[in-house]
Amino acid sequence: MPLPLVPANISRLDPRLLTSGYQALAGRILRLLKSALDSGLVGPSTALITGHWTGTNTAWNTLAPNFTPEYRTTLSLAVTRINALENEVVGAAQAFSGQIPGGPPQPPVPFGDAGIKVLEYVVAQVRMVAEKVANGSNDQKIMELFGKENLAAVKKRFAAIPAALEKLLGETDRKAVGGTVGFVPGNDMPASMAALAYGSGPSAFIKIRPADLAAPAGPLIATLIHEASHILADQPTVDFAYRNQNGIYLLSPALAVDNAAHYEQLAINVAYPEKLRPMPTGDLPTFSLALLRAKTTRAWVRAYQMMLNPADREAAASLIDARPDKVGEALSQAMFDQLYQSLDAILGIIHGDVVVETGPQGDVTFTGQPAVCRIRVPASYTTPAQVASFAVELLATWLWGQNKTAFPGTTLDLYVSEVPKYDHGPLAGRLAEFYENVGRNKPASNSPGRNPEQP
Ligand SMILES: [Zn+2]
Repeated sequence: MPLPLVPANISRLDPRLLTSGYQALAGRILRLLKSALDSGLVGPSTALITGHWTGTNTAWNTLAPNFTPEYRTTLSLAVTRINALENEVVGAAQAFSGQIPGGPPQPPVPFGDAGIKVLEYVVAQVRMVAEKVANGSNDQKIMELFGKENLAAVKKRFAAIPAALEKLLGETDRKAVGGTVGFVPGNDMPASMAALAYGSGPSAFIKIRPADLAAPAGPLIATLIHEASHILADQPTVDFAYRNQNGIYLLSPALAVDNAAHYEQLAINVAYPEKLRPMPTGDLPTFSLALLRAKTTRAWVRAYQMMLNPADREAAASLIDARPDKVGEALSQAMFDQLYQSLDAILGIIHGDVVVETGPQGDVTFTGQPAVCRIRVPASYTTPAQVASFAVELLATWLWGQNKTAFPGTTLDLYVSEVPKYDHGPLAGRLAEFYENVGRNKPASNSPGRNPEQP
């Protein structure tokens, strides 16, 4: 992606932040282009383009913030230069190997008749699950998962879910490729996300990736129950912790009742009782990984919202030095795009198979899916909150070395640690309480409860 142009007038912006923001993004582009050149992707032109790369790299590294009006021209030239270099590399790579670094964009597709049929089937299945939740035969499972005190509240909320989805289905346009009504094809959504709810009440809508409608419907039923719980007009849920790796079993009843993944889990417990296993027990590595996943996933959702909606950015923008009044709208947008990509890269590791071990000195080691990603947290970090926070910094530093983020580990750690404070309304305080108390609170689903296998 090219660097955004420098605004026509930068006199009201902060030259230091403007420069460091551009340098962070440019640094990553330069490292990516260098690796494309080193891998021989551009063939016979490699030597010539490498010369252009060296000159551009020097221009960016020697760029110092300057308060004179001429500075805009200097910065602008550096931007033009790097964008030209990127085009040169992409063009040469296409001509030589046919490969474009980064890959071609996919055209948007509507749901079509086939997609609508799948949605109708899935929503009908949701209605059947809701009937099983309502009829009393699953009350024990509800109490095991949410705590005894929440039985009535959970049944009331679950009962509203099918109607919320049926309303969206009625509003859905099978030929649309975008929009904000009913179910919307999420062509712009990342592969790591199956569906995403926007808002709650009458104006809410849900994006679904059309590709996921081609997959078997089982997981989609549970996913839609999760998303539907977010859009309820009355007491919509939030995401404290997700289903993976037992994260949800760490929530107290007071948080469990408002956590979307609990409704998703209940649907699975109701549908697959044969898969229930004894509840897991927790120790520092287990709690730390669960917290690492819960925190970074929430930070990822927030980064996605902020990337799409400038109005959501205000408080968090200073965490990554991307306030539009300091760096301009265009650079701010580019930095939020980059923030989302960075969080997506972190999630790509920690939502895969992660092995957590405690070493002889009490240190905790996380080994992520790309086998090369192995991070070790020293024993001086003694609570899940401390371990998870340091793990984010180490993961982000590793990703920086892989050219998967423009931000240093300390910046991403700061963002992940601080962004919960700027979450919506009372959620901010409740998230902070959860993060600090993981492993200390009595969870909703305490022993002798049962835990379903994670599909
Ligand atoms: Zn959610």
